[in-house]
Amino acid sequence: MYVALSRTNDIKQLYIYNGTDLRINEKQLKQRIKLKIISHKRADADKSRYYKPEDYIDVQWVRDNLDYTSLVCPHCNEDYSLLSRENTRLDFSIDRVDERYAHIKSNCVVGHRHCNNERKKLRPISKGKDEE
Ligand SMILES: [Zn+2]
Repeated sequence: MYVALSRTNDIKQLYIYNGTDLRINEKQLKQRIKLKIISHKRADADKSRYYKPEDYIDVQWVRDNLDYTSLVCPHCNEDYSLLSRENTRLDFSIDRVDERYAHIKSNCVVGHRHCNNERKKLRPISKGKDEE
């Protein structure tokens, strides 16, 4: 709590930290988000998913999402931890709702990495044609 308080001047950014010692500061968190976005961009480019640059997720969008969701995963309603090491089960990840589209803001939710992966497994695979 003390660490979080001492590193931000914006009171609005504080409410998610109530009762939790994140042991990660804003700068580290944003750096982590930045790296995730870079790898998503690369994946979208590899798969030729097109998007308008202004629609693409950015660090601030993800950061705001962490606030809106109070760090609760939309898939399992459990908290996700910002302390989890990169790419572990409880790490947060940026999930595309519709696999056909890129990581644009209107197509993404933030949740557990493992929930996002499980969700993908449950989804019917429909490649090469539009279902329904
Ligand atoms: Zn979850």
